Amino acid sequence: MNPDLAPSTITGIPLPVMLVDRAERVHAMNAPAEAMFGPGGTGRHYITVLRQPALLDCVEESLRLRQTRKVRFLTTDMAREATYEVIASPLGPEGEAGVVVAFTDITEREQMGQIRRDFVANVSHELKTPLTALLGFIETLKGPARDDATARERFLDIMEREAARMNRLVSDLLSLSRVEAEERMRPDTRADVAALLRSAVLTLRPLAAESGVEITLEGADRAVPVLGDADQLTQVFQNLIENGIKYGGSGGTVRLVLTLSERELAFRGPGVRIDVIDRGEGFDPVHIPRLTERFYRVDSHRSREMGGTGLGLAIVKHIVNRHRGRFRIDSTPGEGSTFSVMLPVA
Ligand code: ADP
Repeated sequence: MNPDLAPSTITGIPLPVMLVDRAERVHAMNAPAEAMFGPGGTGRHYITVLRQPALLDCVEESLRLRQTRKVRFLTTDMAREATYEVIASPLGPEGEAGVVVAFTDITEREQMGQIRRDFVANVSHELKTPLTALLGFIETLKGPARDDATARERFLDIMEREAARMNRLVSDLLSLSRVEAEERMRPDTRADVAALLRSAVLTLRPLAAESGVEITLEGADRAVPVLGDADQLTQVFQNLIENGIKYGGSGGTVRLVLTLSERELAFRGPGVRIDVIDRGEGFDPVHIPRLTERFYRVDSHRSREMGGTGLGLAIVKHIVNRHRGRFRIDSTPGEGSTFSVMLPVA
């Protein structure tokens, strides 16, 4: 037998691999290939084993031209859609033994590509809306409303709002990319969570007052040291409190509760938990798993109306991950929501 066709050469390879000889028969399949195409393929014509036209063309061309050929192959295995990159390459000197066909699972790479494309499309869409509004008002101000002082005032207000929205979006995008870049670097400075919460409350009280909301803080009287980035943790608390005011404001209060525990199971040591609780409208818990995705909103119209970017909770999640903490969301429609951050205590 041609030594290039020894089946043992492919048995240990963790990817699906098969050998096809010059007589166009499947000469050997390793276990992953059998799992993919079913057992009993060995000895049969490759057409009856592989079946997909694009895959057949790839193997046929590689056999005929004695050159490497590549193709993408889609399957549904174990109820999951998977994409493989298939490479058929000549085997033995001048390809005289046949071809070896190897399957690499590129599903994850494809998904990453899709996520990136969706992200770019989302950002473009989010920026396009305020930009279109701005361009429209500039046009009107230069033309029909040129000498209309009242209209000018009104339009300038709207333009200011739209420009501020773009500004917030760009700041949030920058924050997100910075946090993502640093996610693997654990903070090495000490921060006092209680003090950060107190100052976040002071910063946001005026905003809360504008919406008739009262912020209360419990358990933050003594210092709670964590290994943490003070600016980033402040951003976490501010984002959650702001959301409480924006979406939970109808309940009249946003309650912050800080609880220490000597032994937090998740950290195998002491931990601190910060609950941001509102008694507002809440939402159906089906949304919870997706809320920390970028641009995911329960109600897009409402979020935009409130000046939201849809990035706040994505930023929170990344910062909490960087601090090796945990982030939990609970909500009951009509009763309110609780957003909890748990951090290991230093
Ligand atoms: P946004 O900029 O839209 O506020 P976030 O990422 O901060 O973006 O929040 C995502 C979505 O989660 C919001 O659009 C809103 O639908 C929902 N949400 C966040 N916080 C609350 C809350 N306290 N009560 C009700 N819904 C909330």
